[in-house]
This record gives sequence, structure tokens and C-alpha cells, in this order.
Amino acid sequence: MRITGVMVQYYFTCRRELWFFSRGLNFDFENEDMLIGRLIHEESYERDWKEVLLGDAMLDVVRRRNGIAVMEVKKSSKLEEPAKWQLKYYLYLLRKAGVEAEGLITYPREGRRERVALTEEDVQTLENVLGDIKRVISLEAPPPAEKKPYCRRCAYRDFCWV
Ligand code: SF4
Repeated sequence: MRITGVMVQYYFTCRRELWFFSRGLNFDFENEDMLIGRLIHEESYERDWKEVLLGDAMLDVVRRRNGIAVMEVKKSSKLEEPAKWQLKYYLYLLRKAGVEAEGLITYPREGRRERVALTEEDVQTLENVLGDIKRVISLEAPPPAEKKPYCRRCAYRDFCWV
């Protein structure tokens, strides 16, 4: 069963969204965040930035003075916690591959950047989360819709609310 970073992010955002995504309903995949990310990388990290495929995850890796960092570029910090867990998952995959890295989330519109580290407690949490993601995406029907502030901007809103 393949678990991507986006799935980890959706787990922390909405389990119903995760379920739809796991069924291939990923029409929002080429979204604005990704396009912004490309622009930022091209402008700022042209020489030091590389895309690295690790299992099913495509990581944006930047070489820094003290080692390497995995970058995530986000349009806004409204979903900061899910974004952090997505990045922690990438750090977790790298650690399992024998590579230690730090995480950096950049919010270009807010002029802000945040460092993300992977603690032993995070590893434990992630291992529980990965198990629960498998449970959610194995369900025969999506979990019920729950009204959230970001439902109105969710790609799946037409499947939840009329
Ligand atoms: S519209 Fe709301 S309840 Fe439905 S999938 Fe999106 S976030 Fe979840």
C-alpha cells in the first residue's frame, strides 16, 4: 500500500479528503501551491536544488552549509500543522534510508520560513498515523463529511456539500 506525503497531509486535514484522494480523485494535484513552489525553486535554488524520488515521494532537496534540507513551499500557513507532518514524513523516509536532513517550510506570500525537525516522538506518532492511514483508505465508503473552515476551498467540496 503506497502512502505519499500528500496523503499524510490529507490525513491531518480531513480523513474524507484522504479517502477520495486514495481512490484516484486527485484532480487538484497540479495546484497553485505546486506552481508557486516551482517558481520559488527556479528563482532561488536553481543551482542547489534537486528533486529526489524516494519510494513514491518526490522530495525537493536543497544543499545547505550544514547538510541537506527538504523544502516544502506553501501558499499560506492556514494548514500549517498538516504541512509540517507532510514534511516530517519526508524526513522519516530519509532517515529510514540512512540520511539525516532538516525540513524547511516556506510561505513566500507571508515572507516566512519555518524549520521542521523529526523527533523520536514524531517517529512514534508517524508510525501510528501510517497504520491509521491504511485503515482509512481501506474503508469501503468515505468517512462522513465534517464541516471545516477550509471546506469551501477544498477540491472535493461538491462530493460533501450541496
Ligand atoms: S469538503 Fe470538507 S469534509 Fe469534504 S473532503 Fe473537503 S475538507 Fe473534507
